[in-house]
Amino acid sequence: MASAYSLAWDVSLRDRNTFHLDARADCLATVHDATALPSLLAEPALQDLPLMVLGAGSNVLFATDRFAGCLIHLQCDSTRIVDDAGEHALVHVDAGCEWDALVDWTLDHGLQGLENLALIPGQAGAAPIQNIGAYGVEVGKFIAAVHVYDRRARACDRLTTERCEFGYRDSVFKREPERRIVTAIELLLPKAGATNLSYAGLGEELAAMGGLSPTPRNVAAAVRRIRRRKLPDPAVAGNAGSFFKNPVVTRAVAAELQSRFAGVPVYPTSTDAECKLSAAWLIEQAGWRGFRDGDAAVSAQHALVLVNLGRATGPQLLTLAHRVATSVQEKFGIALEPEPRIVGATFQL
Ligand SMILES: Cc1cc2nc3c(=O)[nH]c(=O)nc-3n(C[C@H](O)[C@H](O)[C@H](O)COP(=O)(O)OP(=O)(O)OC[C@H]3O[C@@H](n4cnc5c(N)ncnc54)[C@H](O)[C@@H]3O)c2cc1C
Repeated sequence: MASAYSLAWDVSLRDRNTFHLDARADCLATVHDATALPSLLAEPALQDLPLMVLGAGSNVLFATDRFAGCLIHLQCDSTRIVDDAGEHALVHVDAGCEWDALVDWTLDHGLQGLENLALIPGQAGAAPIQNIGAYGVEVGKFIAAVHVYDRRARACDRLTTERCEFGYRDSVFKREPERRIVTAIELLLPKAGATNLSYAGLGEELAAMGGLSPTPRNVAAAVRRIRRRKLPDPAVAGNAGSFFKNPVVTRAVAAELQSRFAGVPVYPTSTDAECKLSAAWLIEQAGWRGFRDGDAAVSAQHALVLVNLGRATGPQLLTLAHRVATSVQEKFGIALEPEPRIVGATFQL
């Protein structure tokens, strides 16, 4: 029988992060069977090493040229329907599944809900970490439970939705990044119902596609078209998608901002007291869109995306991120918070 995991030493991460940063890791553990995690973690060679889970590397910035520890990469990738009775199906998805392939798998099985989240890079196991969201939908709405190996308790655990504490690009997993290794997720997906067109651009895209009806499959196609047009392709210009979260502020702060600056976009949140600002708008107004310092740049296509145009290093991208956030803070008094995990440095304004 093939080993449940394998270890490699002094590994290049260039093709393991979508910024394509030329960092290395002391060790990379590739896990084919999540039940082997306790044995892996008991390996004598790993006892004194920091550990970090690395999925597809689409939401990390290696701010150091060496991760002096062991990266754990889960490759288990089976998907199955575990309960099909009623109006919803419960789907068990291993952490190593590729997210966008999973979206297609659910559509192929007549299930909906994930279509607005099409084309988000990464693994299914990373989806709950920051409660991935796009085009009016967050994955937390469909997550029934998250299976983890809890390193603190040294035991497996199954966290139901309430325990995941999902918020905007946030969860209990993101707040305690060292503690849990997500091994699988359970999704509860409807078999029918209206698709979510709350993001106005989706209806416009369907119209531009010849007036297509908003079926889950058509919505996924529309989302993919919009994303391909709006976001730089990491294969062409390394990036991690949105580099900053949209700031959530009180209504009073938003009103004060609107009184000082014309055209400040403000979006609702789930609470009346708070609203969301557009980080892209703030960055663009501060004059950063298309700015380039060596190969570290703010995308000319989308102001929220930092890009590696060739040989930028992690520290160079982090310095650029600091400069952008500092200037937004000075101009608008709003603190931007990075969305990706920054490895080997801290981000402080
Ligand atoms: C072009 C582009 C567009 C993007 N668009 C969006 C978008 O629309 N919406 C959105 O929300 N995000 C978006 N992202 C960010 C990213 O794709 C998601 O956050 C994705 O879920 C990250 O998956 P990953 O496997 O690459 O995780 P990684 O980048 O490898 O890891 C991200 C974090 O999750 C942790 N992690 C990963 N897997 C596990 C696990 N199994 N157990 C425990 N911790 C784990 C890591 O330790 C790290 O802290 C985009 C990124 C890119 C490059």
